[in-house]
Amino acid sequence: LQANPLTYDGGGAVLKDGVRIPLLANIGGAADAAAAAEANADGVGLFRTEFLFLDRDDEPTVEEQTEAYAAVLRHFDGKKVTIRTIDAGADKPLPFLTDEDEPNPALGIRAYRTSWEKRSVLENQLEAIKRATETTSAEPWVMAPMISTLEDTEDFMQMARAAGIEKAGIMVETPSAALTSDHLLAACDFASIGTNDLTQYTMAADRMLGALAKLNDPWQPAVLALVGATATGARRAGGDPDAVGADVNKPVGVCGESAGDPALAVVLVGLGVNSLSMTPRLLPAVARVLSEVTMEEARELALTAVSSPTAADAKAAVRAKLPVLD
Ligand code: PEP
Ligand code: MG
Repeated sequence: LQANPLTYDGGGAVLKDGVRIPLLANIGGAADAAAAAEANADGVGLFRTEFLFLDRDDEPTVEEQTEAYAAVLRHFDGKKVTIRTIDAGADKPLPFLTDEDEPNPALGIRAYRTSWEKRSVLENQLEAIKRATETTSAEPWVMAPMISTLEDTEDFMQMARAAGIEKAGIMVETPSAALTSDHLLAACDFASIGTNDLTQYTMAADRMLGALAKLNDPWQPAVLALVGATATGARRAGGDPDAVGADVNKPVGVCGESAGDPALAVVLVGLGVNSLSMTPRLLPAVARVLSEVTMEEARELALTAVSSPTAADAKAAVRAKLPVLD
């Protein structure tokens, strides 16, 4: 057990058998970055860059963007900072990029897809990220949201490489990406599973509708099966099918809200996820519960959850076997 269960000491959550799982922070800008560094996060697993743009009518210049990214990166010398390219759509509109009148915003021209029509916005963002990384010693990982196919992945990777970005990857938020992860991970460096959107698209349930909350539950066994499929595909793509912990060829993280649920964090690790990213206040509880299980136990709990008939059964069965939870 950690000496003080209310704080996280950094260096990764350490399972009972010594396997380390980096615990990262979800942030929206420099103020969050400072708080995440203060909370000893092992880096950033999700920097939601669209927050920098949301009150703007025009596209920020490359110089403005460079300064905004550098202000985040400088809090994480020597650590990984996963920067997500703009995730805008009709629900998170940007006047210079998105259409406000789509009938189904969640299924529309959003996130990475906006670059099909307006390539320069993503190109400029990638250039600004590259320039910002030259000003710090943080380790930038850059990923695109709402990737569905190998063509999407290859297109994004080509743009990232053209900008000089060394570590580039994709978010797995669609069932299609999860089910073809072996192909997608062969074409990129890493993946991060956005379980908020992956759940919405798996369950065909709009995440903005409170009335659908019971469907929008990452404990749904179908969602867990897709997380497992993503990790399995990534291990296959990396040529290291039995590797565990952070040191794998094609790492897969989770950065949806599910990663901050301690019992679910154990299941995600058991499904083969290599890092977890969450709001910093949840780091201590997640580190604590992971310190109570071995990888083998996490795998057994993952199997229990994924083979449960319902989300409620999955959650109850796993929680019953984790006595450290309140
Ligand atoms: C997700 O979809 O799980 C995710 C992390 O991204 P966002 O919540 O910003 O859509
Ligand atoms: Mg998302």
